[in-house]
Amino acid sequence: MIDSKKTQVSRKEAENAIKTLLLWMGEDTDREGLIDTPQRVIKSYEERFAGYKADPKAILSKKFSETSQYQGMIMLSDITVESHCEHHMSPIIGKAHVAYIPNDQVVGISKIARLVEIFAKRLQLQERMTAQIANTIADNLTPKGVAVLIQAKHHCICHRGIHHRDTIMITSSFLGAFQDDEKLVNQFLNQTKNFK
Ligand SMILES: [Zn+2]
Repeated sequence: MIDSKKTQVSRKEAENAIKTLLLWMGEDTDREGLIDTPQRVIKSYEERFAGYKADPKAILSKKFSETSQYQGMIMLSDITVESHCEHHMSPIIGKAHVAYIPNDQVVGISKIARLVEIFAKRLQLQERMTAQIANTIADNLTPKGVAVLIQAKHHCICHRGIHHRDTIMITSSFLGAFQDDEKLVNQFLNQTKNFK
């Protein structure tokens, strides 16, 4: 029995847990096709949950100020979201749209996509992931405003129980200037549809 408060679990222990799961399902873990499955599953988990080892703040630490006082909205739309729900460990697959209005400082555009990826590659609630992305940008770039919208399919409601295959969950977070400027929010929402 593994202690639930134990922070260091060895790779071997993790692989054995997958083996236990296969046995519980009624599988023969010695058959050819399954011999290396525990190792493969743990390797894939390393990628799926790589976000635990990354620091979101560090991603936004390199800022640029030479923007000729650019005042407009900076937006990245259709960022791929591949996450897992913390209740079922089932995939959450969708897109994030992230915008901010800079206060002198900007970051490289790839950093915003990377920020989304770090929070996505953890066990998540879509609501929390949305807030974490918005709050991290607000805290580290101190922009005039931040908007985040995520639209995603949750496999736990698409593929089990009542099978709502086409249901999309939409969450959003609007901070700063976006909170009291309907025009800005509309511009943001219109831009989420640009490349459909
Ligand atoms: Zn779920």
